[in-house]
Amino acid sequence: MIPFLDLKQVNAVYREEMLAAASRVIDSGWYIQGEEVKIFEKSFADYCGTKYCIGVANGLDALILVLRAWKELGKLKEGDEVIVPANTYIASILAITENRLKPVLVEPDENSFNLCPKKLKSAITSKTKVILAVHLYGQLANMPEIMAIAHEFDLLVLEDSAQAHGAKISGQKAGNWGHASGFSFYPGKNLGALGDAGAITTNDDELAKTLRALGNYGSHKKYENLYQGVNSRLDELQAALLSVKLKYLDAEMQRRREVAIAYANGIHNPLIHLPISKRSSLVNLDSHVFHLFVVRTKNRSVLQQHLLDSGIQTVIHYPIPPHKQQAYKDLAELTLELTVAIHNEVLSLPISPVMSDDQVKIVINACNDFKG
Ligand SMILES: *Cc1c(COP(=O)(O)O)cnc(C)c1O
Repeated sequence: MIPFLDLKQVNAVYREEMLAAASRVIDSGWYIQGEEVKIFEKSFADYCGTKYCIGVANGLDALILVLRAWKELGKLKEGDEVIVPANTYIASILAITENRLKPVLVEPDENSFNLCPKKLKSAITSKTKVILAVHLYGQLANMPEIMAIAHEFDLLVLEDSAQAHGAKISGQKAGNWGHASGFSFYPGKNLGALGDAGAITTNDDELAKTLRALGNYGSHKKYENLYQGVNSRLDELQAALLSVKLKYLDAEMQRRREVAIAYANGIHNPLIHLPISKRSSLVNLDSHVFHLFVVRTKNRSVLQQHLLDSGIQTVIHYPIPPHKQQAYKDLAELTLELTVAIHNEVLSLPISPVMSDDQVKIVINACNDFKG
């Protein structure tokens, strides 16, 4: 069986280095808010090109805390509107509603699955305060145009970079486009910890300071509380492990791109719509880090079964759109045809830095054998 993602194998490559890092933390006697977190935050800020990186407990908290901080700083208030792509992972929407802000779901661009600048612009009202740009599947959203719109309408931009560590346009990386960005280091993400972990990047001094306090009980200074904060911190052990894996992120990204290019060149079945064109092998793929390789097909369940019969595990990202979830009954009446179609047709093929050329070939052949 070709697994969708073999995390054991992904991490086995760094076993010795990770064990050494873990031992260092165990023997230090210091497990929260110490040197390992400081070192990782500095390295990840440098990697993204931002002034600050603030470690938090997970990616959802990263998004929640940025919006919360903007409320504390008087830039947002309950009921303000946040524009977000309708086809995103539920966490993007949860961050909005957790802050009692109003999610305004817009249909994505049909080809990239990301925010469409045109549709985004037509969703702006006098209550719009934030654009939540999600870099879905590892592809940077059209940030040059989104930032231009944000500038024109004086809006804040929060990037959801949970799937896009290292993706860039004109050398500018995910996490360094918006006013702030949330990252996840959930084990299955491109930069994955061995547990929950996340971070926020920003270039804004005041925001960084507020975020530090909010994630630490609302405290700037021990036993003094400025805000009614939460406990959301990156711990020393995860930070030490992430510092090991960050060194290899670009090499892993390169392998993911090789797999994606092989898929794009090898799969030529008219029943399977590819996320990148065959010509992508020649053009610059900097903007996509292929967290997922998502194809579209009208007969998804048949394709999924066909691949399974060929020994290939696939996953659906995501089977139910946010506005059709029980949790968001109040959004159920929205008409979002493209979003619904995407959720009915997408299928994620295996992709990871540890996939072999033989495995890639098996997937390509099985896709080409699919008769519908
Ligand atoms: C994974 C993910 C999150 C949430 O991150 P967690 O660390 O799992 O809380 C948010 N947004 C997107 C797009 C994600 O893929």
